Amino acid sequence: MSLGGIGEIGANCYLYCCDGKWLMVDLGLTFADEKYPGIDLLLPKIDFIKEIADHLEAIIISHGHEDHAGAVAFFAEKIDCPVYATGFARSLIENRLKEFGSLDKINLHTINPSNDIKLKNFTLSFITTTHSIPEPYAITIDTNYGKLLHTADWKIDNNPTLGESFDINAFQKIGNEGLLALIGDSTNADIPGFSKSEDEVREELIKVFSRYNKRIVITCFSSNIARMESIAIAAKKNGRRVALVGRSMKKTIEAALENNIISELSNFITEEEASLIPSENLVVICTGSQGEKRSALYRIAYNSHRHIHLEKNDLVIFSSRDIPGNEKSINNLKNLLIRQRVEIITSDNDLVHVSGHGYAEEIKQLYDWTRPMISVPIHGEAKHLLAHSQLAQSCQVPITRILENGKCIKLAPNEPEIHGIIETGKLIVEGRNLYDSESNFIKDRRRFSFEGIVLVTIIINEDHSINKNIKISANGLPNFDDVQIINDFKEIFIKDYLRLNIEKKSSDQLLSDLIKKCIRQILKNQLLKKPEVKSHIIRI
Ligand SMILES: [Zn+2]
Ligand SMILES: [Zn+2]
Repeated sequence: MSLGGIGEIGANCYLYCCDGKWLMVDLGLTFADEKYPGIDLLLPKIDFIKEIADHLEAIIISHGHEDHAGAVAFFAEKIDCPVYATGFARSLIENRLKEFGSLDKINLHTINPSNDIKLKNFTLSFITTTHSIPEPYAITIDTNYGKLLHTADWKIDNNPTLGESFDINAFQKIGNEGLLALIGDSTNADIPGFSKSEDEVREELIKVFSRYNKRIVITCFSSNIARMESIAIAAKKNGRRVALVGRSMKKTIEAALENNIISELSNFITEEEASLIPSENLVVICTGSQGEKRSALYRIAYNSHRHIHLEKNDLVIFSSRDIPGNEKSINNLKNLLIRQRVEIITSDNDLVHVSGHGYAEEIKQLYDWTRPMISVPIHGEAKHLLAHSQLAQSCQVPITRILENGKCIKLAPNEPEIHGIIETGKLIVEGRNLYDSESNFIKDRRRFSFEGIVLVTIIINEDHSINKNIKISANGLPNFDDVQIINDFKEIFIKDYLRLNIEKKSSDQLLSDLIKKCIRQILKNQLLKKPEVKSHIIRI
């Protein structure tokens, strides 16, 4: 069962239960879209873990990406069981815990992939895969009823530039021993063929860099250490030094150094040094591939970065993909760069990015090796899940089941069947606090941002007469004639008000409703909108 991650790409959180004991795999976040004005992050609602608190044996974090590990620190107060993560993922989680001042709140353990984790009703082992972040592993979950394979995020990269190789033998061994169910990544299930290797990106970057003799700024995901290394190598081969710009980038590089994922940063210089060396000798790696407003690339593009500036004919490379929902802000950023006559290269022009998720043929390969009885597609929107289940069927997997968040499936014993539904949803992160995504304040924010708001202040004297000094102001609405509105309001409202008996005149609620009705009636013809109306009723 998932609390997040099925029907969406993000907020991954999966729960397994065996004979009364529970296991959680991943606890990630997702990015908020325009439905949540002013909100950046959403987390899965995990209230259900209260019900299983005494039986939740562990939380396993498959890798360090935000959509798998990013929510852990936010739930520090709610998590009582041990949390296991690989060294790199653990460092990233700890960074956020430190930021929140809650490092000691979570019982964190480092996964050693060569050792099994033995829990009461589950034995977990790890298989090396390849992905777009260091230390990706698929997890096998052994139970008394059979073995499950939770693939986590993966692709088959035959030439990974960083870390170990994809362990084909281990998957074939699982197939030979018998696999009950494969619970697997669907992100690129609808893309035919095989994904390309990071190695090819590295070669391409060396070529691209050699074509330019001006400043090169390149943006990629901050967790993609292999990409940063590829950029550094391409820079070195072309006589360029590398400056890292952006806090999250520096932090992930620190985490990679701490965990011996990369060994040296000989070619790197500081932002200050970057502003001093000739532009043809410089590559800037920065955050902001999604057009995020506070990112380094955004500030550089708006010429508001202290040390890095762009000039005509400089090159900006987007070594990334557009995450669905971010297209608009990415486009705005690109247009801004184009207006400054900066050249842009994206993965549409050259092979400057490869996905970290396997394409259709790779998924089929995995099914051929592992031959599970049951396939449960996860990590994808509806179209990805469907494409994945069709691939599984084409590989003769006897049973495939597409779930929704909260839907529990009983995998064994006997035929798999749906076993109830639990409530799921999202929490919004506002500051450091978490609120239900259905909270009134966010509904208000949404409504105000669409309809605008009118504020009315009236003073009611002790004898229930209305003070002539009525104030009306509006936000988020076009300019209108305040005097005219106040006059119209006085006329309509006072007429209605005078008809009320004393008891009704004493009710603030009733008067608020009346004020709302009057304002909407007055503005109806001018605005064709129903603005939110708030009133202050002051009784003296
Ligand atoms: Zn993911
Ligand atoms: Zn991932």
